[in-house]
Amino acid sequence: QQYASIKISENQSRSNIKASHGKELGKQLTKDVFRERIKSIDTDTCAPGEEDAFFVVDMGEVYRQHLRWKMNLKRVKPHYAVKCNPDPEVLRLLAELGTGFDCASMQEIETILNLGVDPSRIIYAQPCKTKSFIRFAADHRVKQMTFDNADELYKIQRFYPDAELFLRILTDDSSSLCRLSDKFGASMDTTMRLLQLAKDLDLNVVGVSFHVGSGASDPQSFARAVQDSRIVFDQASEIGYHLKTLDVGGGFSGDLFESMASVLSKALDENFPPNVRVIGEPGRYYVSSAFTLACNIIARRDIQDPATGRTNYMLYLNDGVYGNFASLIYDHQIASPRILSKQDRSTHGVEYSLWGPSCDGIDRITDTCTLHGILDVGDWLYFEEMGAYTKCCATRFNGFTNHHDVLYISSEPGASALLNY
Ligand code: PLP
Repeated sequence: QQYASIKISENQSRSNIKASHGKELGKQLTKDVFRERIKSIDTDTCAPGEEDAFFVVDMGEVYRQHLRWKMNLKRVKPHYAVKCNPDPEVLRLLAELGTGFDCASMQEIETILNLGVDPSRIIYAQPCKTKSFIRFAADHRVKQMTFDNADELYKIQRFYPDAELFLRILTDDSSSLCRLSDKFGASMDTTMRLLQLAKDLDLNVVGVSFHVGSGASDPQSFARAVQDSRIVFDQASEIGYHLKTLDVGGGFSGDLFESMASVLSKALDENFPPNVRVIGEPGRYYVSSAFTLACNIIARRDIQDPATGRTNYMLYLNDGVYGNFASLIYDHQIASPRILSKQDRSTHGVEYSLWGPSCDGIDRITDTCTLHGILDVGDWLYFEEMGAYTKCCATRFNGFTNHHDVLYISSEPGASALLNY
């Protein structure tokens, strides 16, 4: 691990969190750390794997996202979705900042409990759980959990009858990158029946949850889901439940955050009195922009186009869709390469296609991109916005490692103080 920090005043960073000075400093520091590291790697002589792809993470960016959340969504207590990126330093920072955590499995719950986080800060937000994992949650007093079907209620009654249950409802997630409603969520014509069954089983329903889809792009989807949640709160009152918490899920994007927060805040204020507690489960919002990945060019193929006489270049990198670019497949992301270092001094635009290191043809990072100058084996590229659904989805296909080095920096004194950087 390598740490660097930079001093800027707290006021400076708070004044404009979205396009802050701290963000620019973070980008500069990231490049400095990249360059320092690759300076020491000679790809002709280095130990095998020394030139592997690696990340630089600006913890200041995670910290700024937290401040931005608090400024725009005061009413909603974030429970970070661990699945998105369970990086230990990110989890530690968020634990220090006092967020809650959305866990999807026993293993994630264990990771968070091992940080010393109180079980009341965890929601087991998976409506279809393994029986032994429910028993584990019961043994460790992780009470909050979601359900969306009758079978789950029978399971919970058997293994954790004291659990605090959230009924997850279906949403219109048609404008999101990763739709979840094909798989999860009770439709509005089933909610009353499920609440009645929970009541008959003497279970403790405490709230409603929803998710508007990961990578959502329509802020109004939050408003519609909040209105549906209100209906379910009222249905619950009819049969004697007094629900106290609404969970507005994840789906928040860095680019659209302010408009999503404004639509959501308005809908919350119109539909829920202040005594209703509101939590959220943001994942990508917290980590996407904090992680930048450096990759080495390990091979190049030059193809002459007889029609135009031009050369097309195929560059092969030491990371691909079976590695940290898994997000191109699972998360429908688009890679935007930038040059970190190159031997050639020319600066004219050249077209490239980029490929991963595995033997599979699907392992393509981008069909076409224009970069300035002729790139060659041994040169380095970097990719921003690589924090969400990347390294946690990497496989060992073809024998490659899925443990890439992570170097931490902090461009915010607030984060530095919490993490001793
Ligand atoms: N909560 C649940 C239940 C999820 O399934 C997910 C992602 O799949 C999230 C939260 C995080 O979503 P996002 O990263 O889009 O904020």
